[in-house]
Amino acid sequence: MIVLQLWLILLLYLYTYQTITYYPTDFLHTLSSGVFSEIFDGEVYKYYVDGEWKKSSSGKSVAIINPTTRKTQYKVQACTQEEVNKVMEMAKEAQKLWARTPLWKRAELLHKAAAILKEHKAPIGECLVKEIAKPAKDAVTEVVRSGDLISYCAEEGVRILGEGKLLVSDSFPGNERTKYCLTSKIPLGVVLAIPPFNYPVNLAVSKIGPALIAGNSLVLKPPTQGAVACLHMVHCFHLAGFPKGLISCITGKGSEIGDFLTMHPGVNCISFTGGDTGVAISKKASMIPLQMELGGKDACIVLEDADLDLVAANIIKGGFSYSGQRCTAVKVVLVMESVADELVAKVNAKVAKLTVGPPEENSDITPVVSESSANFIEGLIMDAKEKGATFCQEYKREGNLIWPLFLDHVRPDMRIAWEEPFGPVLPVIRINSIEEGIHHCNASNFGLQGCVFTKDINKAILISDAMETGTVQINSAPARGPDHFPFQGIKDSGIGSQGITNSINMMTKIKSTVINLPTPSYSMG
Ligand code: NAP
Repeated sequence: MIVLQLWLILLLYLYTYQTITYYPTDFLHTLSSGVFSEIFDGEVYKYYVDGEWKKSSSGKSVAIINPTTRKTQYKVQACTQEEVNKVMEMAKEAQKLWARTPLWKRAELLHKAAAILKEHKAPIGECLVKEIAKPAKDAVTEVVRSGDLISYCAEEGVRILGEGKLLVSDSFPGNERTKYCLTSKIPLGVVLAIPPFNYPVNLAVSKIGPALIAGNSLVLKPPTQGAVACLHMVHCFHLAGFPKGLISCITGKGSEIGDFLTMHPGVNCISFTGGDTGVAISKKASMIPLQMELGGKDACIVLEDADLDLVAANIIKGGFSYSGQRCTAVKVVLVMESVADELVAKVNAKVAKLTVGPPEENSDITPVVSESSANFIEGLIMDAKEKGATFCQEYKREGNLIWPLFLDHVRPDMRIAWEEPFGPVLPVIRINSIEEGIHHCNASNFGLQGCVFTKDINKAILISDAMETGTVQINSAPARGPDHFPFQGIKDSGIGSQGITNSINMMTKIKSTVINLPTPSYSMG
């Protein structure tokens, strides 16, 4: 009896083990013992082409500077134009077969890549800490969120790409019922993905997932800061077993190979996230679909009846998370004069509690990405100082580390009223009417997101309608996610709408097949 019970326990254990773990133990062991070792030659990371990890023939590398230590942390290959040509050729070939691969198989591979990515959240998260000074906890969260995003793409793709449409001709005047039009969605071809430094993994997979499930091949040009995290992420796709050439990763400085990539005749779609660079790309690119997610100056309008504790908490979360280096960070507070003193006091009390230091210690405020970025932020702060803004905290900077700063009494003649600092500094403009707040928001070149705080839902909706931004959040700070929500900027903030469903649709085109029936020779009566 005891022997039987032991057998049952063993069988139960084996069954549970097989269902929970996706990969055999020896596979996991191989990965963890030499995690990603094939992608690194001991000094420089390799780039990825035709299913292989290679060194560039340029013999040159690009240094990735750790924002905290300001020393070289990693090096990546400086790829050449010939290597870009080769990647495009491979991508074009691989895409033809991939487009004929059944949708369910594409989805299966994406799920596999998502699982491998999540398995490697720790080493990839560590790269994000070292390359872009992302607080350790947030770095791991970014990787896990990216895995979820890939899986969601697979599921959504299976749903929406599995559907087509049938139109009949007699609904248009003058036509008989002699034409049946079948439409379905087909891939565009080669998608070029260029993400920014601040969410290099998440914003790369937000392009890779939709592109692949839709049957496209993908060429990734990662940001220089964040390139190594991206290479590790691409390695997860490699391990999942995607066909050779379908995914490639070209490294190098955007200023050197960017134009060659974006103007390459082999590219059929560009999905770009970043700053003004995107405006320049959209002027140079050829006649291909563009998805542009660019900068923002998200305004936070605060009315007299707002819950000021809720506003203060959202200003801290929205304005200072990841040291303000988020496209959807609150970048200007427009508060009614009658409640401004109280709000500023509440925010100041919370700013005093923010921890400042290295990302490894999960500090709230960590060094900004580069010295030039810190200098730019300092320039905005000094301009505001000269023109009379009130500093709620003392201005303090050590290297790339800037202490959080709330600037009160900012006026429209100050640069910080309009420009995107991408750092831990937040201006407050006191307003005397709702119209004044809306006017400031709409006078901006940007139109990404905005938010309004009030207990009056009617006012909130009217203000949302009047704000010229892609999204307005009511009683919460702007945010990109959840990743399946539509996300879009207007004016200089972007072209097109993102979010998983919109991205899948954007990376496809409609194909019609029309069945022309002969006019019946027999009586229809
Ligand atoms: P960036 O300087 O515009 O760079 C973005 C990407 O473009 C990087 O991969 C960069 O590579 C590459 N690049 C540079 N020059 C290029 C060229 N001539 N051709 C093609 N690619 C080129 O932006 P960032 O500083 O990384 O990111 C911050 C900006 O992104 C902010 O403005 C922020 O608001 C915006 N952003 C927007 C969203 C959104 O969804 N709307 C989300 C996140 C961030 P290198 O790194 O090698 O230069």
